[in-house]
Amino acid sequence: MDSHEKQRTIKNEARFSGKALQTGARVELRCLPSQEGTGVVFRRVDIKGRPEVPVNPKYISSSKLRRSALKRGKAEVQTTEHFLAALWALGIDNILVEIDASELPAMDGSAAAFMAGLEKAGIQEQDARRRVLRVRRTHFVKGKNGSITVSPADKFSVSYRIDYPLRSIGRETMKFDLDREVFAREIAPARTFCMKKEAMMLLKIGLGKGADLENTLVMDDDGPMGTKMRFPNEPLRHKIMDLVGDLYMLGVPLQARVEAVRSGHTLNAALIRQLYGDYMVRTEERRENTSGMEGFLLKVLSIFRTMKKGEQDGK
Ligand SMILES: [Zn+2]
Repeated sequence: MDSHEKQRTIKNEARFSGKALQTGARVELRCLPSQEGTGVVFRRVDIKGRPEVPVNPKYISSSKLRRSALKRGKAEVQTTEHFLAALWALGIDNILVEIDASELPAMDGSAAAFMAGLEKAGIQEQDARRRVLRVRRTHFVKGKNGSITVSPADKFSVSYRIDYPLRSIGRETMKFDLDREVFAREIAPARTFCMKKEAMMLLKIGLGKGADLENTLVMDDDGPMGTKMRFPNEPLRHKIMDLVGDLYMLGVPLQARVEAVRSGHTLNAALIRQLYGDYMVRTEERRENTSGMEGFLLKVLSIFRTMKKGEQDGK
C-alpha cells in the first residue's frame, strides 16, 4: 500500500568498517544512493560476479544461529538486523550496500553508529511514495518459548517482554510508539548481549569471534562484565531493536501493533514469512507480470498523469 510519505535514499556515500560479530572477519560496507523502487540491496563485492542479495522475505535464511541472514544463491549476508533497524529508523527505502565479507561489521554492538553514519551522508527524499504494509487482521506466531502478535493499528508500536534467568535482566515488558526520535534515543544505543554462561559455548561453536566486552554485554547476575550498561534494561531494548530490524526484512515498513514475548530471530522470521505470504506475494507477482507491454502502458499513463497534474498546479 502507498503511504503519504515519500521514498528516501542517502545523498552521499557512507562507509562503515570493523570486525564482524560472529565470524570476526574484517569487513567494509560501502553504502550508495539508489533509485526509487529498488529497495535495500546488498552486493557481495568479494564474490566473482558481485552477486546481489535484495532485502526481501523470500531470501531470509534460517540456517544461522543467533542472528538474521539473507541468502540468494551462494551469496549470503549475515547479522543484518542492527543495520536494517537503522535504515528503518531513518526511513531509508532505497540503498545499495556493497559488502566485502559474509557478515556486517559489529560496530559497537548497537544501531547507533549506523544511524549516525547514514545521517551524516544525508537523507534524500525521492519522488515516489513510500509503500507500507498495513495488516487487516490479527496475526499470531508461537515458538517454543515465545510468541508475537501483530494487530491492525494507525501507527507502529512495539512491546516486548523479556524473561531471563538472571537477576540483572529478569522479567520486564516495555512498549514504545516508535518513530525516528524515540528509536534514536531509547533503542539505537542498546548493545547486543549474551549470558556469561553461554559465552564459552558460543565461542566453542565458532560464534562471537568478533565479540568483545565493549560491543557485547556479557551478563551475569550482577550485570555486564567490564563495561557499564547504557540503560538499566539495555538487553530488553536491544531485543526491541532486533525485532524492528528483522521486521524491515519485509522490505517495507510495517504499520501495526506488535507485541512480542521472548521472541528471537527464528520467530521473527516465521512472522515475516506469514505476513509476506498473506499480503505481499500476490502484489509482487502482479508487478512482475506487468513488466511487459502492460507495464510500458502503465508507465506512459503515469507520465501523462504527472504532466496533467503539473498543468493543473500551474508548473
Ligand atoms: Zn542484536
